[in-house]
Amino acid sequence: MIADFRAALAALILAFAPTSVAAQQPDKPKVVATFTILADLARQIGGDRVTVETIVGANADAHSFAPKPADAKILAQARLVVVNGLGFDAWSKRLIEAAGYKGETLIASAGVTPRRAEDDHDHGHAEVDPHAWQDPANVKIYVANLRDALSRVDPAGRESYAARADAYGKQLDALKQEIGGALSAIPKERRRIVTTHEAFGYFGQAFDVAFIAAQGVSGEGDVSAKRLGALIRQIRAEKIPAVFLENLNDPRLAERLAKETGAKIGGALHADALTPAGGVAPTYLDMMRSNAKAIADALR
Ligand code: ZN
Repeated sequence: MIADFRAALAALILAFAPTSVAAQQPDKPKVVATFTILADLARQIGGDRVTVETIVGANADAHSFAPKPADAKILAQARLVVVNGLGFDAWSKRLIEAAGYKGETLIASAGVTPRRAEDDHDHGHAEVDPHAWQDPANVKIYVANLRDALSRVDPAGRESYAARADAYGKQLDALKQEIGGALSAIPKERRRIVTTHEAFGYFGQAFDVAFIAAQGVSGEGDVSAKRLGALIRQIRAEKIPAVFLENLNDPRLAERLAKETGAKIGGALHADALTPAGGVAPTYLDMMRSNAKAIADALR
């Protein structure tokens, strides 16, 4: 009788086993990040315990992203959605609703002191600058938020997330020291740069570099002839040493500025998106080092 029962139970377990075990790893939480920088941070803190997917991919512009209905599929089975907040990826709200996602959404920038955008050149209204990740000290706040959110959705991983967050926090401290050291070697009056969109305000605050932007914080729209003329006069009058291209923008603007002012065109700066693996900025730490080197090289 007992043997029969065991056999029946074994048959039952076998019958259910393939669907619950073989296909995927049901206990590995799936994290979906709105863009590549957040995805990298989620991987750094999540490690092997999580899978991470990105809505807006490498070298793509998350400001102007317009989700299509098919993009909602990425949220299926997600256990945590990570957004930047500060108005950067506000489109994610519609996508989350469209997907019927009911799980936790983490605003990674929660607790960061927001910086007011300059943005007085085109439409006069002040906005919050969303690019908080450009200061490694802010990323320590992102990392603490990620550690806590991952621990909520996967309590068994709490110790692992805490250890990884600690270790990564030390790398962020070292990064800030390293960049600060490299840039402080450049005379303060030379630490002035024109960029295409206003993405480096937090970097500028952190490392005492003045960034003058041709466009607002979203990097969208054309630069008016008036704005371009004003920038050219400012670069000449203040002898601003360098103009930078970005991975997201039309390079013609910076080329024209450089041609008409004699300012040097710096190498590519990466503001909002990492490069694919094999590029110069496949991780956040690589991106910051690559930007700092490009800036130091142009100003030297
Ligand atoms: Zn941006």
